[in-house]
Amino acid sequence: MSKTYDYDLFVIGAGSGGVRAARLTALGGKRVAIAEEHRVGGTCVIRGCVPKKFMVMASDFSHQFETAEGYGWTVEASFDWPKFIQTKDVEIARLSGIYVANLGKAGVDLIHGRAVLKDVHTVEVTHRDGGESRTITAENILIATGGRPWLPADLSGVEHAITSEQAFHLPELPKRILIAGGGYIAVEFAGIFAGLGVETTLIYRGPNILRGFDDDVRAHLAGEIEKRGIKVILGCQHSEIVKTESGLVNRLENGMEIETDVVMFATGRAPHVTALGLDAAGVDLDDKGAIKVDALSKTTADNIWAIGDVTDRMNLTPVAIREAVCFHETVYLDNPQHFDYEAVATAVFSQPPVGTVGLSENEARHACSGEVDVYLSRFRPMKYAFTGSDERMLVKLVVDATSQKVVGVHIVGPEAPEMIQLAAIAVKAGLTKAEWDATCAVHPTMAEELVTLKEKQRPGNMSAV
Ligand code: NDP
Repeated sequence: MSKTYDYDLFVIGAGSGGVRAARLTALGGKRVAIAEEHRVGGTCVIRGCVPKKFMVMASDFSHQFETAEGYGWTVEASFDWPKFIQTKDVEIARLSGIYVANLGKAGVDLIHGRAVLKDVHTVEVTHRDGGESRTITAENILIATGGRPWLPADLSGVEHAITSEQAFHLPELPKRILIAGGGYIAVEFAGIFAGLGVETTLIYRGPNILRGFDDDVRAHLAGEIEKRGIKVILGCQHSEIVKTESGLVNRLENGMEIETDVVMFATGRAPHVTALGLDAAGVDLDDKGAIKVDALSKTTADNIWAIGDVTDRMNLTPVAIREAVCFHETVYLDNPQHFDYEAVATAVFSQPPVGTVGLSENEARHACSGEVDVYLSRFRPMKYAFTGSDERMLVKLVVDATSQKVVGVHIVGPEAPEMIQLAAIAVKAGLTKAEWDATCAVHPTMAEELVTLKEKQRPGNMSAV
């Protein structure tokens, strides 16, 4: 049946999700093509997680040098931004090349161009260097076009602002930066620039950063990033950005004026659905502008599927990859699978970083009828013993008081992302607090707090604080 089409599967977008789906399907013996209008690797590899982590690591050295001095080292360090950017870009190109090679090894046809849906089985692909467009047919089509930075277009002067995409390629390190937003990207880039010695201001419209995270995490992190020199302005947003001879003047709604060299907006990302031809194929959007899908990632068009950020379900690379695997199982292995979005661990690569899995205390109080035990510890990480640093670590367990299952783990401090990956196994497995405690501690570590927390901070059905 599928022989009447050019391909069994046509994937639009070669990011983490699209590439995984294309490779799995091709390795299963199907004829697969993938179209990419930019570079293979998508947001994660080219302009997201991977280059961001390199920048966090580059930035964090300044903190390590300070710590080293407490241990008797004399450190004379300087930082070469253009050299770092060049090195980072070479590595990103290498990783993108691996993605290309892996597609080739799996037998996927890679088409460098922009694909537009013409009907439920047809796409038109225009090569990115121009020229004739090609019409290609496929039995199934998978949309995995990701997301794009979003900024408030109606803000006067917003054209002077950059987004994270330009932040990866600034020709020089600014002396001053102002970052708008209070989510992952805002907090991560504020840490990056502050660590590199840039005078950094974070401005967020809400009462505290990282809305949706546990309130203790939000308060703790806000305090810690201020200790690292970031000026945090809460409950406020821009009214205007004005370019002057000496920089960019940020006029805020509270009447403040802050001059900076660079303004970066990290005010969220929107599904990348522009000019994809969705109407022609009967693919509907939801009320947030994301592609509407069912639990199996099928769109409103029968043979068209969508995964990853373009569906705006849980915008994380490993989730897109799991959605790709579920798509492949469902469509090609006759084994309908939907991804389980419960207890997905996540990390914010702020400085210090955050690791979190499961429910916040407030979420747990709703989910567990208010019966929640909270175990919490704040302490100075051992490595700061000689530095005079007053940086504190936070470790918090949220336990369903009735079942005694640990339903949420929240960590702020060094290595929190590494710890949370392991803690997530126990949360996902539904282990009880007693089972956590039966695990012998590794000493001396920061992670041992996870199995040695004995005193309830907030027992039973106390109202949330
Ligand atoms: P987020 O949704 O995390 O944060 C957006 C921020 O912008 C929020 O603080 C939001 O405020 C604020 N905001 C939204 N609209 C406006 C506005 N009009 N004016 C002022 N502020 C506004 O988005 P990010 O861009 O930080 O990240 C996008 C997604 O990418 C994340 O949700 C995450 O899923 C993913 N990501 C994951 C990372 C990781 O795993 N480490 C790293 C980076 C991104 P409010 O809270 O009030 O709505």
